[in-house]
Amino acid sequence: MEGIAYVNCAFMSLDEAKVSIEDRGFQFGDGVYEVIKTYNGIPFAQEAHLERLERSANMLELPLPKNRLELEKLINEAVRRCSFQDAIVYLQITRGCAPRLHAFPNKVKPTLVLTVRRARPMPEELYEYGASAIIAPDERWLRCDIKSICLLPNVLAKEKASRAGAFEAILTRNDGRITEGTTSNVFIVKSGKLYTAPEGNWILSGVTRAITLRLARREGITVIEDFFSPEILMSADEVFITNTSIEVMPVVSIDKQPIGDGQPGQVTRRLAKLFKAEILQYIAQAKL
Ligand code: PLP
Repeated sequence: MEGIAYVNCAFMSLDEAKVSIEDRGFQFGDGVYEVIKTYNGIPFAQEAHLERLERSANMLELPLPKNRLELEKLINEAVRRCSFQDAIVYLQITRGCAPRLHAFPNKVKPTLVLTVRRARPMPEELYEYGASAIIAPDERWLRCDIKSICLLPNVLAKEKASRAGAFEAILTRNDGRITEGTTSNVFIVKSGKLYTAPEGNWILSGVTRAITLRLARREGITVIEDFFSPEILMSADEVFITNTSIEVMPVVSIDKQPIGDGQPGQVTRRLAKLFKAEILQYIAQAKL
């Protein structure tokens, strides 16, 4: 397996990396995680990711075993050891190993797992011609703002999308509010305005989402952070999704119905281009 793992203080190959069956991540999904993409060996928007990791851990009263600086050093060391041009850094911290009792154990050392793998480039067609999606019920808990490793509803909805031949499942709550995708934030463009669900407990506040909104505002695009319904989604001029690995990806069909003219839209293309420029600028500054 190509890549590297770091488990509780030691680097090793991915196949050697193991955690105990007593780990609360394995037993209860009692942990948090982050995914950071590196470009030319530089972790993009690392501060924002580590800030979110700290926030997620705090909300679960999960003490991080390393501070921000130590985590940055660890990520840099792991990335350096792999020397991949572009890589995906996965960082997971669980409450640690203890006999299986639901309440927090008294004395427990958190488990820190980090992996670095080569970033698999997304098929170019997804950006050129756009991706497809389905709408699926949002069956997650009420703290989607916490980047917890409990991802079963996301897994099931993504599988549904996959079986339908679609790239993503766009999630809707029972009351008809679109929240986000299983692994992405969802945006629509309608009459030149950009809409996306607001921050709060119903969505994971994406790092890519925040950057995209900043770029859109800088471009003078009106941004409305509010919920919209599946009907509004279907009647949008443009739809796109964002996350760390895919950046800004157009969605041109949902539930087999075309969105707008069925082609990636102007605003989406512009924001995708600006996002790429933002990455280049970040890398150039980080190298100084
Ligand atoms: N929403 C969900 C449910 C996610 O899992 C992700 C990323 O994995 C995102 C949104 C996008 O977050 P980010 O842009 O920080 O990668």
